[in-house]
Amino acid sequence: MKNTSKHEGLRNQLAKQLEEKGILDKRVLEAIKLIPRHLFLDSSFEDFAYQDKAFPIAANQTISQPYTVAFQTQLLQVKTGDKILEIGTGSGYQTAVLVAMGAKVYSVERQNELFKTTKALLPKLNIHPKFLSFGDGYKGLPDYAPFDSIIVTAGAPIIPKALMAQLKIGGRLVIPLGKDKQIMTMLIRKNETQFEKHEFGECRFVPLLENKN
Ligand code: SAH
Repeated sequence: MKNTSKHEGLRNQLAKQLEEKGILDKRVLEAIKLIPRHLFLDSSFEDFAYQDKAFPIAANQTISQPYTVAFQTQLLQVKTGDKILEIGTGSGYQTAVLVAMGAKVYSVERQNELFKTTKALLPKLNIHPKFLSFGDGYKGLPDYAPFDSIIVTAGAPIIPKALMAQLKIGGRLVIPLGKDKQIMTMLIRKNETQFEKHEFGECRFVPLLENKN
């Protein structure tokens, strides 16, 4: 599949819709305009790739809805050079958005099939995260910690302690919290022991599962 001016036009329209839905961070919108979402999906979804919807990817998982990607990314207040940990690489689309914003991205995926596919795809699109890991996101990546921010892209029943420990002071952890449906939750680390909690309404994600598969 190619990335044509038709796709670019559709991306501009998508970015406009996201702005109307309240995404105001221009750098997030620029990244949405840049990343060819249709290349992260099976070719049968090409015609729908720029609708603001989630779609199935391999291993019974989903590529998040663009609004959700943009909303979570906006909460992170990404700055160029930020070191960001992503839990749930999936299709790699969220990873690509963060890389396009100049972040150094470390991403963990527990499904081996998705891990392998996405690791092969991203360099072909000239997208270079710092590190893609096959593992259990509940554990984070202690060897690479601390992180400026952490984004979890699956529904977590609890906030994993390991992730809180791997956040820099002043850093932000954005996580959909809950079982069947989730509340988008953000923790800001105030100091060694204190975290400030913010909640942003309901959302629905595939579950954050334990161990590798
Ligand atoms: N960011 C992805 C969203 C994928 S859906 C995208 O833009 O496409 C959530 C992903 O989290 C799935 O790929 C799922 O396999 C993965 N996941 C679930 N539990 C996990 C865990 N414990 N550790 C790492 N990844 C996990």
